[in-house]
Amino acid sequence: MEKLVDLHIHTTASDGTLTPRQAVQLARSLGLAAIAITDHDTTAGLAEATDAGAALGVEVVPGLELSAEYRDGGAHILGYFIDPAAPALRGALDRFVQARQARNEQIVAALAADGFDISMDELRTAWPDTVLGRPHIAEFLMRRGYAAAMDEVFDRWLGKGRPYYRPRWRMPLAEAAAVIRASGGLASVAHPLQYGFPPDELEAFLRTAKDAGCGALEAYYSKYSPAQQAALQETAVRLALAVSGGSDFHGARKPEVKMGTGIHGSLRAPYDLLDGLRAAMRS
Ligand code: AMP
Ligand code: ZN
Ligand code: FE
Ligand code: FE
Repeated sequence: MEKLVDLHIHTTASDGTLTPRQAVQLARSLGLAAIAITDHDTTAGLAEATDAGAALGVEVVPGLELSAEYRDGGAHILGYFIDPAAPALRGALDRFVQARQARNEQIVAALAADGFDISMDELRTAWPDTVLGRPHIAEFLMRRGYAAAMDEVFDRWLGKGRPYYRPRWRMPLAEAAAVIRASGGLASVAHPLQYGFPPDELEAFLRTAKDAGCGALEAYYSKYSPAQQAALQETAVRLALAVSGGSDFHGARKPEVKMGTGIHGSLRAPYDLLDGLRAAMRS
């Protein structure tokens, strides 16, 4: 049987709903050979995942997903094989957490001022060890009965252009790639088709990312058809980038995205990808 991997997984350390240990257990039950834990702007789940991987016989790649800025827009950069203790990483992640904290406080203060029954203390109590984001605020509002579905909260209140949306600081693309490299890792451009670039701008973006120090792009992704995945692999070859692949699993928060197989069963990222990423890191 072909060995498969899933190199894009979120846990309760950020906005996934499985703990790191539960994510590794699920990977094992699915027969995955390796997974990467890639929580948003935090490495807090990596130690537990690595321990669970060793105990259960699943290879766990320590990773993360940074929110970077490219031409006034957002771009996500995955980091693989990072050393969570690297000083460069600690400083960078502190900045992310502080920026998120400031933004969460702005959103919650605006909601409370308009009469919503919500406070930072209550959010903290609900998720004590989590890097909080809009999904948590949304879920909190649902628990209080303000809405029945996450989409509804974003459409009415928290989504971009809605009354309680507030922008969040993002790290410049070159700095995000540099931080990952300084932490011993390999940087990979996450879900390249999610940024809305037409083909020529996509290529320019990927070249910029490569010049900035990214060594790979995520050609295998839940939402991409086999044809899109094949096209992204060709782009990677043309730009001399390695290829990563993963589902962007978030557990119950994105129930349509299945670990290992993605949305339509089309993901199927082979173990060879990991060998390619390791080779790219050495070169
Ligand atoms: P944040 O990092 O706090 O800005 O929150 C971003 C996260 O919110 C994304 O990763 C999504 O998981 C979630 N999100 C963004 N827009 C929506 C939406 N319209 N419906 C549901 N979830 C969303
Ligand atoms: Zn997420
Ligand atoms: Fe992402
Ligand atoms: Fe993600």
